Amino acid sequence: MTYQYWNEKMETLSRPELEAYQLAQLKTAVDQALRTPFYRERLGKAGINSDTIKTPEDLRRIPFTTKQDLRDGFPYGFLSIPREDVVRLHASSGTTGTPTTIYFSKDDINRWTSFVARCIYGTGCNKTDVFQNMITYGLFTGGLGFHAGGEEVGMLVIPSGPGNTTRQFRLMQDFGTTVVHATPSFLLHVESKMREEGVSRDSVKLKRAFAGAEPYSEDTRRRIEELLRIDVFNSYGLSEMNGPGVAFECQCKQGLHIWEDGYIAEIVNPDTLEPVPDGETGELVLTCLCREATPILRYRTRDLSSFYTEPCACGRTHRRLHRITGRTDDMLIINGVNLFPSQIEEVIMSMKEVGNNYLIVVEKEGALDRLTVKTEVGQDIFMDDARPLNALKEKIRKILQASIIINPRVELHESGSLPVSEGKAKRVQDMRPKDA
Ligand code: ADP
Ligand code: ZN
Repeated sequence: MTYQYWNEKMETLSRPELEAYQLAQLKTAVDQALRTPFYRERLGKAGINSDTIKTPEDLRRIPFTTKQDLRDGFPYGFLSIPREDVVRLHASSGTTGTPTTIYFSKDDINRWTSFVARCIYGTGCNKTDVFQNMITYGLFTGGLGFHAGGEEVGMLVIPSGPGNTTRQFRLMQDFGTTVVHATPSFLLHVESKMREEGVSRDSVKLKRAFAGAEPYSEDTRRRIEELLRIDVFNSYGLSEMNGPGVAFECQCKQGLHIWEDGYIAEIVNPDTLEPVPDGETGELVLTCLCREATPILRYRTRDLSSFYTEPCACGRTHRRLHRITGRTDDMLIINGVNLFPSQIEEVIMSMKEVGNNYLIVVEKEGALDRLTVKTEVGQDIFMDDARPLNALKEKIRKILQASIIINPRVELHESGSLPVSEGKAKRVQDMRPKDA
């Protein structure tokens, strides 16, 4: 395979060069951070300034920053440039509480855009592509971030946003869309709708999809790839680190290269906050090296991942992350057993008979927790024939129980009947009383 690089020099820097570059950028970021009210106090107390950062290990002397810190610093506690030099703001989706706000200067937007362009180009796209950006525009970073990156690559960008699948198909057919960007759950929905509305796969020219903004398993990727006959590339980012363009899969589709000339990545044990041994799973901690308006150092993402220990075949020297399995706070405790929603997804998305959508419900029944997994059935199963349905239910239950230890209740629903979200999917309904 021949690999194409957007910025060959930076993407293939030798490790010593990359680390030296990071150190210089880190010093600048620390200086910049000291211009914000929040870090002036936080770093001041810890006695940290750019002169105390002499080696890459000195990063670890910088205190962590949490989402709560960002919330407490609202609105301008993390702003390091005059308000007049800010040209845009974005906010997180607020998946776990009050959204956080990030400010950008003109240069920040340009740097961010070039990272997104690097991601897109690295999957094999170029200016001949037509790119339908089926993700939410607005305060969410995914819309405008990918939009700008797509234009930077020179693709024809269709700012369709999510929703209205009939219109999405129309756009794909009219303009010959070759690549789309969406959440994996929306891509699954698009596939179901395509069959339901009788849109033939051959009437569209799709080749690739960028899927991210929420966790998904390798089986879900494979399912989307097989059903839609496209290549799906995992896209990771978060508003605190600009948005999309933080880590992305290359053509090898084995892990996400984290752009280490823009971000320093650490993986720590979420309890002890000590680094985990290379290759082990822990919480991803990120330092932004490419933004002046809102510098953020050692941000605890709460996202769980691990590093690949081998270099990638594509020749890029930037380390790769394993797909993010979820957030530390996604973990459910069900009758004392720990469970990540991703464990359920892995099982059901690998079963051909199961449809494209599912929902996890947790309730209290007396003193016990009750887990119900609602899945849609595949379109070739008839809901009025009880026998195969019961057999399927029992099969799903058994396979799930073997893998998650908990014995779930399984409910089957007609294809297309479970709720679909245009943004991040809400897969878990925890109905247990909060104080229980
Ligand atoms: P929020 O934290 O409110 O959802 P964002 O809109 O900034 O804010 O979304 C960033 C978060 O989305 C990440 O921290 C991560 O939890 C999740 N995320 C983004 N991309 C991926 C991905 N490819 N795989 C798994 N999770 C992802
Ligand atoms: Zn690679």
